[in-house]
Amino acid sequence: MPTCFITGITGQDGAYLAQLMLQKNYRVVGMMRRSSSSDIVGERLRWLGILDQVELVDGNLIDLASLIRLVETIKPDEVYNLAAQSFVAASWHQPLLTGQVTALGAANLLEAVRIARPEARFYQASSSEMYGLIQQPRQNEQTPFYPRSPYAIAKLYAHWMTVNYRESFGMHASSGILFNHESPLRGIEFVTRRVTDGVARIKLGLARELSLGNLDAKRDWGHARDYVRAMWLMLQQEKPGDYVVATGRTTTIRDLCRIAFGHAGLDYEQYVVSRPELRRPAEVDVLLGDAGKALAALGWQPTIRLEEMIAEMVEADLARHRARQRAQLQT
Ligand code: NDP
Ligand code: GDP
Repeated sequence: MPTCFITGITGQDGAYLAQLMLQKNYRVVGMMRRSSSSDIVGERLRWLGILDQVELVDGNLIDLASLIRLVETIKPDEVYNLAAQSFVAASWHQPLLTGQVTALGAANLLEAVRIARPEARFYQASSSEMYGLIQQPRQNEQTPFYPRSPYAIAKLYAHWMTVNYRESFGMHASSGILFNHESPLRGIEFVTRRVTDGVARIKLGLARELSLGNLDAKRDWGHARDYVRAMWLMLQQEKPGDYVVATGRTTTIRDLCRIAFGHAGLDYEQYVVSRPELRRPAEVDVLLGDAGKALAALGWQPTIRLEEMIAEMVEADLARHRARQRAQLQT
């Protein structure tokens, strides 16, 4: 039975990747950072019904010793580095922490693998945010980067370290340049979840409006369930490499609102307010990926359309709020 080691297993992608790896009969070991709320950090794994099927171990990306010890004892065949300070907006408030975790954390894990398990295959969670101020209308593996936030700059460092460890030490290290991907397990601070959660609250009479920032930004949104499949495929290739993973369709936040409110039978224009204070210091106006290489080399393509995904997210948020309402009535 092959073993995979996943950092960031308590996050959105970590949970879906763990589920995929269990289906593929891997032993799944996930790293959790120590928390005083350890009873709830496994919530996403519980939501997927797999919490008791994965092994959770304590560690932190900024503690190299913990990583070496874990890689030494777990002896993984595949290592997926999904842990990060992953929220762009927060990266202006905590730029140094973002650098320590998202940039140097990846270097720490690469070092741990190089020292303790150099034959393991390595995946780095790179991001379309690295394209930032886009240099080409559709971004692929050859498009120059122009990061626009401390988060994107940290990801760019981690990306180049992955390429460098591949070229310097012959490690099987691959980097997935993933465009935005969402799901009912997406963090509540990201715009898709803010919108689907807002729709659910408004529909159930718990809120009257939804405040957002820039409604004109465009993103290429896919479903996390599709995107974790691409991660696994990258590590099954004979040679490591870099791959863009995207849908090839871009949509404004405004149209996202139209779709999400429309699913609940509501008109977004009556509820959504754009507030200047929620805009970012520097914006990534538009992202649109070209995943041609992933299709040709991995046979990967997305299977879930934006409308389907948003419907799933709105329904999940409605169910969550209804369950909370029922629980409150019982107490
Ligand atoms: P999440 O924010 O949902 O998950 C991040 C994970 O990292 C959580 O498990 C978190 O733990 C963990 N983490 C944070 N800091 C540390 C640390 N110091 N040590 C160990 N673990 C830590 O992100 P996603 O699942 O959405 O994304 C996965 C990866 O892919 C991230 O690296 C993200 O930046 C990247 N990415 C995501 C995209 C997307 O659209 N989702 C697009 C492109 C890249 P805890 O639960 O304790 O907070
Ligand atoms: P990102 O692409 O990783 O930054 O993902 P987000 O979901 O955080 O943001 C996507 C886009 O939505 C960015 O252009 C944001 O400026 C825009 N946006 C507009 N309003 C909001 C909001 O209220 N929250 C978030 N997170 N983003 C917003």
